[in-house]
Amino acid sequence: MSSPKMAIGVDVGGTFIKAALCSKDGEVVIRSSTDTVAREGYEGVLHRIIWIVEDVVERSGVQRGDIGGVGLGLPGRVDPRSGDAVMCPNLPGFVGVPVARPLADALGMTVRIGNDAGCAGLGEFHFGAGKGSRDMIMLTLGTGIGGAVIFDGKLRRGSRQVLGEIGHSVIDHNGPQCGCTQHGCLEAFCGKEGIIRRARQRLQNGRESAIWSLAEGDTLKITPAVVAEAAAVGDAVALEVLEETGFYLGAGIVNAVVFCDPDVVVIGGRIADAGEPLFGAIRRTVEARCRIGQFRGDRIVKAKLGGDAGVVGAASLILQPQEG
Ligand SMILES: [Zn+2]
Repeated sequence: MSSPKMAIGVDVGGTFIKAALCSKDGEVVIRSSTDTVAREGYEGVLHRIIWIVEDVVERSGVQRGDIGGVGLGLPGRVDPRSGDAVMCPNLPGFVGVPVARPLADALGMTVRIGNDAGCAGLGEFHFGAGKGSRDMIMLTLGTGIGGAVIFDGKLRRGSRQVLGEIGHSVIDHNGPQCGCTQHGCLEAFCGKEGIIRRARQRLQNGRESAIWSLAEGDTLKITPAVVAEAAAVGDAVALEVLEETGFYLGAGIVNAVVFCDPDVVVIGGRIADAGEPLFGAIRRTVEARCRIGQFRGDRIVKAKLGGDAGVVGAASLILQPQEG
């Protein structure tokens, strides 16, 4: 089968649904977004996905026959073979239900589904920072930590679709509790709440910091983006928080490197925009602690596709089919 000229990628989040028509080179031709309105449940969200795909097709002016299909990234566990959602915690009703089939029936197009972090990994692998590699790990830093493992050019999800959940690798058995109930997962340190907690602790200890003014004096307004912003102007507290975050990420990546032996580790998500203060600490930690087979720090790189990784990666489920 020759690869299609174009595909539509849809990135379904708990808050927004984003979609884009992508060329075979992963360039975004046209995009659209809408609120997910997850509380409307399974039927309501499927309806919005159909609407957004039709919106993209209509506005692009591209003939339906030139579009190879729709790739869909969902926030949770999915079964790509059956096209069913297994468990999506932020999408009520998306538990053990068909997704690809009803969408394909409604749209008259091929529909394939994947996990959102896996799609981001595929996007970076085919069209972004991982292009040219064969074995790649991607971490997406956000509210949680998404993970993707691409081995021998293919996204691997394992028998229960949990392979690559690097965010739930334990780096300190006595560490803070994670959303998954385990203690000391990487995500408990480097997910959104972990970063905020460490910044807040320093402020509550009376440290002076630009974080205060950026958060308008309200500790509830501290976010990882605020910490990154303060670090960019050289704020000592923010730089410490990023250094620590980089250390913990490095510790998690050392484990992932031993398990997966990648050519490259790609790190995405908004906090990755913090750049060198974060990446320097990650690289130093990995170089110092990865004692088996020495992993070079310059093989840990920032994602290139930014906010488009999800939609471009979802489109790659069609543009670069994995099966067969
Ligand atoms: Zn966990």
